[in-house]
Amino acid sequence: MRLLLVEDEKDLNRQIFTALTDAGYVVDRAYDGENGHFLGDTEPYDAVILDIGLPKMDGITVLEKWRRDGKAFPVLILTARDRWSDKVQGFDAGADDYVPKPFHMEELLARIRALLRRSTGHSTNELSCGAVTLDTKSSKVVVSGECIKLTSHEYRLLSYLMHHQGRVVSRTELVEHMYDQDFDRDSNTIEVFIGRLRKKLGLDIIQTIRGLGYLIAPAGVSALQS
Ligand code: CA
Repeated sequence: MRLLLVEDEKDLNRQIFTALTDAGYVVDRAYDGENGHFLGDTEPYDAVILDIGLPKMDGITVLEKWRRDGKAFPVLILTARDRWSDKVQGFDAGADDYVPKPFHMEELLARIRALLRRSTGHSTNELSCGAVTLDTKSSKVVVSGECIKLTSHEYRLLSYLMHHQGRVVSRTELVEHMYDQDFDRDSNTIEVFIGRLRKKLGLDIIQTIRGLGYLIAPAGVSALQS
């Protein structure tokens, strides 16, 4: 899952970035409202963490512009202000959640997990398909009771497909949600990662839909022919 972090306080930006990348997300960063708005406008993020007090363009304006342009990704707003009227203004501008500063990093991570599972139609941190379970809290993948070691790329790939179970996901979409903006992207590598994942899982829950992409069908649903 790929996130955008817009926060002008350098130390806080770095701390949040580290916590998010440690949790297995790929993260793009902006330090002012203009650049943040541009990134959200041009890149397909799974969720956004947006500070309200920002140079060049404030967070509420950034959010209003995105929503006016039909950007539907979940947005969590961060702000030092804790007045009820600021919260109301944030929600009315299109925010999905709100965390006042200072906060505990664990709470921010839990709220991001909740936003991501809600926006993809899941109700718990544990995403399952047959004998495979992916826990978005611990970033662990278990197959038939056994913990499987995955690289960060493999984990992101599986996590994205598990979040979007039942939908065919194209290679381009996978690339867009697995790498940050600076990464030298090559959609051919996706096939390699899929191959490794299938081998490690030992089960073929990932189907190749020729010409379209990949699919993890919800358990119990009969598979399309690959
Ligand atoms: Ca700020």
